[in-house]
Amino acid sequence: MTSVALPQEFLGSGDPKDTKMLITKQADWATHINEPKAAVEMYITAGEHMKAIEISGDQGWVDVLIDIARKLDKAEREPLTKCAYYFKKLLNHGYAAETYMKIGDLKALIQLYVETQQWDEAFALCEKHPEFKDDVYVPYAQWLAENDRFEEAQKAFHKAGRQTEAVKVLEQLTRNAVIESRFNDAGYYYWMLSMQCLDIAQGKEEEPFNHYLPETLFNVSRFLLHSLTKETPLGISKVNTLFALAKQSKALGAYKLARHAYDKLQGLQIPARFQKSIELGSLTIRSKPFHDSEELVPLCYRCSTHNPLLNNLGNVCINCRQPFVFAASSYDILHLVEFYLEEEITDEEAVALIDLEVPRRNKRDSKWQEQMSDSAQTMRLLYKTEELEEDDPFTAKLSFEQGGSEFVPVIVNRAILRSMSRRDVLVKRWPKPLRWQYFRSLLPDNPITMCPFCFQMFHSEDYELLVLQYSCCPYCRRKTDESC
Ligand SMILES: [Zn+2]
Ligand SMILES: [Zn+2]
Repeated sequence: MTSVALPQEFLGSGDPKDTKMLITKQADWATHINEPKAAVEMYITAGEHMKAIEISGDQGWVDVLIDIARKLDKAEREPLTKCAYYFKKLLNHGYAAETYMKIGDLKALIQLYVETQQWDEAFALCEKHPEFKDDVYVPYAQWLAENDRFEEAQKAFHKAGRQTEAVKVLEQLTRNAVIESRFNDAGYYYWMLSMQCLDIAQGKEEEPFNHYLPETLFNVSRFLLHSLTKETPLGISKVNTLFALAKQSKALGAYKLARHAYDKLQGLQIPARFQKSIELGSLTIRSKPFHDSEELVPLCYRCSTHNPLLNNLGNVCINCRQPFVFAASSYDILHLVEFYLEEEITDEEAVALIDLEVPRRNKRDSKWQEQMSDSAQTMRLLYKTEELEEDDPFTAKLSFEQGGSEFVPVIVNRAILRSMSRRDVLVKRWPKPLRWQYFRSLLPDNPITMCPFCFQMFHSEDYELLVLQYSCCPYCRRKTDESC
């Protein structure tokens, strides 16, 4: 020790600059003769923190490092960052976090949490600083996918009230599954995805489905019940669904349906907080007439059959079995019929044929107003429905063999494709290996908008309103100015 000790007379007197220099020199010497402990002490005394930190870090002296870090002013970013670097390297993540916090380097802190999979901490930080969301959720999704901890993560997201992110994760997982040809998984993820979205739409607070228009709630609850024929997916409550249906049916004049829903509820276990309300509802509905308002009856756009409000076949027409196409925000039935291509026609050819604008008789005066904005594909036609040509080869195709219990899809050939106007057709251009999906509008004067990213379809006026409200697609939440 004597070899590195400093002559006291130098320390007691003289210029502090000289003293510092002397101590530093002494410390250099201590380092040189391999006395790191002494060197660190002297460097600290001399205020040469970087050097003290480097030696301590290389020696693995966590206690010395945290001592230095705690004493340093938070403005000393460089030495503090160095300390944090060593804490990370020495796997002392607690001290690393403490140090990043001290200098307010949130980006580094988030990165630390992500690298060390401290997701709770990462989410908590995101809560306060949403600008780091992508830094967390993207690696989180990846981590989930790698660890197969899908459902657990879903619950965690839900608990944290992070539905949007949960949906994002699901979308990512779904996309991966499709790309990797794991179609079984993809199917499952899609199911989860759609349910998740409905779950968001429900806004499960004190009472189910409280924030939406009565018509929307009525549609959503019917859509759900029709989807729940076999099993009830995670997070979907049959009681909530029926209760919502009962209330909205009553409000909208579907009294028969409301009675049915209340009757069904009697057979289920009802949470205490709904009990009074449901009892009262079951009583008061008896004073109403035993029928449903005709306005609410769903119409099949393929066969023009009026469908029952509750349909034991699910979300398909009770007569022709054509699946209903629902608007993604209001869940009412869109005036679309899905059609398929004859086997040898490729998607590219089909679209090229549809794009051929064959001039049609009686149409010269029709006022087409097409909006191909960068945000969405919208079709608008200002002529009246009755003016649709009687001899439209597509509408001729809509007829089907009466009495069969099997669904017969509408399959079109080249001639029919050529007869179509691209303004009447919406195409969901799914990535390969999926086939594209084709939908023909039967009421072209009621515009429908399809999101260019998720291909969900909306009444154009709903879509415009929702985009104004959220500045993104209400379904997939992609910004409307994002490019594909
Ligand atoms: Zn039908
Ligand atoms: Zn979308």
